[in-house]
Amino acid sequence: METPPLNSLYQQLILEHYRNPRNKAELEEKSVEIHMANPVCGDEVRLQLRITDDQIEEAKFVGQGCSISQAAISMMTTLLHGCSLADAKILAECFTKMMQGDPDAAKDKRLKDLRVLQGVSKFPVRIKCALIGFDALQEALKTHAREETS
Ligand code: ZN
Repeated sequence: METPPLNSLYQQLILEHYRNPRNKAELEEKSVEIHMANPVCGDEVRLQLRITDDQIEEAKFVGQGCSISQAAISMMTTLLHGCSLADAKILAECFTKMMQGDPDAAKDKRLKDLRVLQGVSKFPVRIKCALIGFDALQEALKTHAREETS
């Protein structure tokens, strides 16, 4: 599947994360693990979080797929270290809104490097690629909340 023509500087940052993904490893002592797949493109991720006292201590992933999906997950995990569960939820909601084309969400500085993926929102078929990591995160947060209350 073709990669959308993004601004070259942005393209470089995406490729850099794709070639040197951050936090790509199995996490020991994980609190929650979520598997998510995007069969349209062949993207796959297993997101693993270690959570203590409503804070994400560590976030790691194992996955494969296109540059957009893997770069987005890599960027996401760098933002999750030390992040509270409430802030992680806000990040996921903000990124999802940006991918749906919300211009205000795209200006949110909390998204940091993830904002380079804004251009992907113009390519509906690739939006799922960019969202797979945060979809896994939202599922992980829900699973964790359910386990806490049970
Ligand atoms: Zn993809």
